[in-house]
Amino acid sequence: MSDPMNAEKQQQTILVVDDEPANIQALGSLLKDEYRIQVANSGEKALAIVRDETQQLPDLILLDIQMPGIDGYEVCRRLKEDSRTDGIVVIFVTARDAVSDEELGLKLGAVDYISKPISPAIVRARVETHMNLKRKTDMLERYALLDGLTGIHNRRYFDEQLEKELARNLREGYPLSVIMMDIDHFKEYNDNYGHGAGDKCLQKVAHALTDTLSRPGDTLCRYGGEEFVVLLPDSDATGARVVAERLREAVEALSLTHEYSAASPVVTLSLGVASVEPAGQQKGGAESLLKRADEALYAAKRAGRNRVG
Ligand code: GH3
Ligand code: MG
Ligand code: MG
Repeated sequence: MSDPMNAEKQQQTILVVDDEPANIQALGSLLKDEYRIQVANSGEKALAIVRDETQQLPDLILLDIQMPGIDGYEVCRRLKEDSRTDGIVVIFVTARDAVSDEELGLKLGAVDYISKPISPAIVRARVETHMNLKRKTDMLERYALLDGLTGIHNRRYFDEQLEKELARNLREGYPLSVIMMDIDHFKEYNDNYGHGAGDKCLQKVAHALTDTLSRPGDTLCRYGGEEFVVLLPDSDATGARVVAERLREAVEALSLTHEYSAASPVVTLSLGVASVEPAGQQKGGAESLLKRADEALYAAKRAGRNRVG
């Protein structure tokens, strides 16, 4: 499983775009001690770099305006109209210094405008200011996708990932599965051991589920109160049932005493699996997939709980 907090520790990246090698050289050497530097000598190359979905996006782009081919304004316009790249901070670095140029750059969504010839101290200071803001924005965005009690992802993140994986399923034809989970007789647990103990129990269950998932693409989320959900890209129904059984065993193996559960002397989970097979056979998208997982979960509840439905 990916650690949702990891990105915070990573070094930030700057993409320097300029058709003059000397300018790239000057800016790069000025900033390379604090940031990871990428370079592009044309607008086309800059766009190719940010559109490569296998690469992490730069945090900030120092963007020349006058370049042969796609100029800096156009690069900025295209970055800002794509939701994948519109969070990249753009600073224009240019010899053009008419007020109308600056105005146009800012209207296109750039945050700042630095004139050539550059002053090293000013470049460093402005980049630092914008990078600090970017770091905070990124952090807030990550927290908005996490569950405060357990530290795993929340439902919002799950819904986003599910849409992405369903689109990939249609495009590339890989299967995909979800496992819905719900703690058995958890109301009794809360009512008898108290809300604080209930919260600790949720944290331990989340931890056990996290430890059991082995593939980096598996996404575990807290879906609601005592409900969890896992998204398994590339897993068909058979594979997902194997994972579901492992998750069930992991929670049972925690051996958290639950004297008020009719299902077991310890805290247990009921689980429901639903899958979409390779593209073309899927109907109804996310909603119908989750509904099927929910139905399987309730079948497991009816059949006696602590099982995969
Ligand atoms: P079932 O086996 O059918 O799932 O029964 P249940 O008691 O688990 O289900 P029910 O939906 O009736 O109760 C869920 C309980 O989960 C209600 C509430 O007390 C508890 N709960 C939900 N969210 C939290 C939370 O954040 N912390 C704590 N401590 N308890 C929670
Ligand atoms: Mg429930
Ligand atoms: Mg429950």
